[in-house]
Amino acid sequence: MPKFASGHAAFMRRLGLSDTADVHRAVDAAWEAFPGWSQTSVSARAKILFAFRELVNANAERLAEAITDQHGKVLSDALGEVQRGLEVVEFACGIPSLLKGDYSDQVSTGVDTFSFREPLGVCAGITPFNFPAMVPMWMFPVAIACGNTFVLKPSERDPSASLLLAELWRQAGLPDGVFNVVHGDKVAVDAILEHPDIASVSFVGSTPIARYVYETGTKHGKRVQALGGAKNHMVVLPDADLDMAADAVVGAAYGSAGERCMAVSVVVAVGDSADPLVDAIKQRLPKVKVGDGMDPSSEMGPLVTREHRDKVASYLDSGPAQGATLVADGRETAPDNGGFFLGVSLLDDVTPEMDAYRDEIFGPVLSVVRVPTYDEALRLVNDNPYGNGVALFTRDGGVARRFQFDVNVGMVGINVPIPVPVAYYSFGGWKASLFGDRHIYGPEGIDFFTRTKAVTSRWPDPATSKVDLGFPQTR
Ligand code: NAD
Repeated sequence: MPKFASGHAAFMRRLGLSDTADVHRAVDAAWEAFPGWSQTSVSARAKILFAFRELVNANAERLAEAITDQHGKVLSDALGEVQRGLEVVEFACGIPSLLKGDYSDQVSTGVDTFSFREPLGVCAGITPFNFPAMVPMWMFPVAIACGNTFVLKPSERDPSASLLLAELWRQAGLPDGVFNVVHGDKVAVDAILEHPDIASVSFVGSTPIARYVYETGTKHGKRVQALGGAKNHMVVLPDADLDMAADAVVGAAYGSAGERCMAVSVVVAVGDSADPLVDAIKQRLPKVKVGDGMDPSSEMGPLVTREHRDKVASYLDSGPAQGATLVADGRETAPDNGGFFLGVSLLDDVTPEMDAYRDEIFGPVLSVVRVPTYDEALRLVNDNPYGNGVALFTRDGGVARRFQFDVNVGMVGINVPIPVPVAYYSFGGWKASLFGDRHIYGPEGIDFFTRTKAVTSRWPDPATSKVDLGFPQTR
């Protein structure tokens, strides 16, 4: 286990990528630890989770520094991500209640039925670069609390947070082999997907890889939940408070440089809202402070790599070439310090056939699509292949209520721009944003990481015993 000094200069600069044999060693360790861990009492497991919770809380700053150092997001945002991950750990601390089963006595004369949940075995997690602490914490606290052992393959682009978390598990008293980290790329992912001793795979990342992980993992007999990319719309009706909507969209579009799966990347301006809304957004953009993530005055850091920054910036050429209006060009406002910075950017008059609308840009480029009516806005959102998050801004409760039923998206915000569910609900999109049938963390996380067993029992009662070859029926 590597040692870390305090201070972000200590985080790793070079990363060795695992080969198949390395992944097999981690799975062997998890497989060997499984019988002991799954038999550990639920109260003893909860105690270790509580200790882990305290340690993550005490080391939040250190984790955040690792994230800012390697991802680039500002420190306050990195601390926010640790906090949201911690909420899932806190949810998992309630595991004694969460694993309670059902019991029905006298389902037939003298017969009782009860069910309980058993862990699956070795579970794996494969995670993206954009939340190097939070997304792994969407998975492993619940998996481990349920009695599984876990192999995490984090993003190779920001690997240090997961090793810090492994160190904290060890300090919390988690037995060796219950939580394992392997660094790597496609080679490591394929080794996980094909390994016969891995029971389940939780994946979060882009849609093409999510589809591949789901198809390959299920073909190898695994339970798979694979969360994919997104194109999140924020629909603004003419009756909305437009200042509130503009504040909300600037935060939701440019926070973490737009590298959030729940970032708003399209504003759907309905009817008369469009001109004043675009003006209100435009006024706010010069005030967004872009700079080094470790500088407390920065609100937005750089993008994760130069290639990604250049790809994101390319929409500022293709958008206008395809007919959009470039209202704010982040190439002109990016700090010129050799980093991967792009300033806040705004494209107006975007239409659904343009690349800026069709692609998940995953950067600080916000598109505005103008539509005449609520029905047009709803059709646009529902026709989009993604279905992760959506927000509606309005003062009309009746329309808002209709919207929450009519929209084909997994997470809906009403006057809330980034509707990430709290830890005791579950997170997940629809359509191309999720492959599999279970959302992540919360009650669906408990379902995903366990399988139920139903026991039907009768204790000998000589008075009712006789030979009966008929189909079992309730009596
Ligand atoms: P990515 O798909 O490139 O990588 C995700 C993981 O897959 C990484 O661990 C990576 O090593 C691995 N991987 C990459 N290419 C692979 C390949 N060819 N074969 C096998 N494995 C491969 O995603 P990213 O760029 O790290 O993260 C950004 C994406 O993640 C965005 O699309 C974003 O929307 C999505 N995301 C979705 C959610 C959600 O909840 N739906 C949350 C966070 C991020």
